[in-house]
Amino acid sequence: MTAGEAPEAAAPQPQAPDGAPAPHTERPARFMVVVAHPDDADFGPAATAATWIATGSVGALVCLTSGEAGADDHETDPLHLARLREDEQRRAAAIVGYEEVHFLHQPDGALANDLAVREQLVRLLRAFKPDAVLCQDPTVVFHDSRFVNHTDHRAAGMAAVDAVYPAARNAMAFPHLAREGLAPHVVPRLYLFATNEPNAWVDTTAAFERKLQALHEHDSQLREPEKVVEWVRRWAEENGKRVGVALADAFRVIDVEA
Ligand SMILES: [Zn+2]
Repeated sequence: MTAGEAPEAAAPQPQAPDGAPAPHTERPARFMVVVAHPDDADFGPAATAATWIATGSVGALVCLTSGEAGADDHETDPLHLARLREDEQRRAAAIVGYEEVHFLHQPDGALANDLAVREQLVRLLRAFKPDAVLCQDPTVVFHDSRFVNHTDHRAAGMAAVDAVYPAARNAMAFPHLAREGLAPHVVPRLYLFATNEPNAWVDTTAAFERKLQALHEHDSQLREPEKVVEWVRRWAEENGKRVGVALADAFRVIDVEA
């Protein structure tokens, strides 16, 4: 799919001949990943991003916060931690292959889906012109009966969704942006990750090692890296089983145009 071209309004998940779902093989030419914290993208869709970039896509990464609350010691200097985590994320992003990395410096732990954040996202969307946005599923409050989804993850996902639709495409939303030359842009597809309702699985087998390399850059956040690798691999294996491949990322794909 090329920039500006709407995807077909078909179900996002093709079927294999035996009726089981087949891997999702569509690839956006340009995509933007929007997350709450440095490391969210690497725990999330990094292997998909690396897969798509390796086959010709251009990717951008946007972190709404710099993760300055991500430490156990209350004496930690938040500005120092923010700088450290931005550096970690930039190194990880270079491994995945993103062309652009942006930090919007919103407060970690207090991220709000407000007009100011949406305006910044709309500015980035209209400048980069992605055909797909990957973000955290904002509707998830709990995963199974074991995890509470971080408030920033929900806010980041909702801000990304609201920026894609309707704001980025609406000339009357933040009209000064259009006057600056940032014309409305239609993002036809959303890929929600960390979702409880997946409907598409991307085969990431070939790029999975790159995801692990990227994850290892988040040194400040990994207390037991071997365990992290173990469960990240197990998630990917479980996703892979859904579509008959070794390793996969799961998404809830929303065709905004359909
Ligand atoms: Zn996070």
